[in-house]
Amino acid sequence: MIVLQPRCGTPCRPASRWHEMASILVVEDNPDNMTLAVFLLESVGHTVITATNAEAGLTSARAERPALILMDIQLPGMDGLAAIAQLKAQDATRNIPVIALTALAMKGDEERIREAGCDGYIAKPIRYQELLAAVAARLASS
Ligand code: MN
Repeated sequence: MIVLQPRCGTPCRPASRWHEMASILVVEDNPDNMTLAVFLLESVGHTVITATNAEAGLTSARAERPALILMDIQLPGMDGLAAIAQLKAQDATRNIPVIALTALAMKGDEERIREAGCDGYIAKPIRYQELLAAVAARLASS
């Protein structure tokens, strides 16, 4: 592992070697999936904001303006697709990239998710390399 020397006297995390640290909102109602996502994202230096339903996620997105949102599709009450549509319909949040997290595997789902305005798609179960690669790619292109 390459450990970068701190510049400007600030602590430097090795993970910043290959991506930017960012504030990421995770909207996920399954506790195990949430724990895993938070662990993976924090392990590479990101700051994670959590919400366990769409309404709380929309509130956090507006208030915190995260650099990226990971949105579960199957949520209690408002589902992730409806939440993404709301994010993309509002000036304050439309430019925040959204990666969908979904266990849905039916043909046509990816298209449906992209039509809702999603910027990417990760099928569950969460695999750590796939998740971190998708996050890094999305942050690098925004
Ligand atoms: Mn869910």
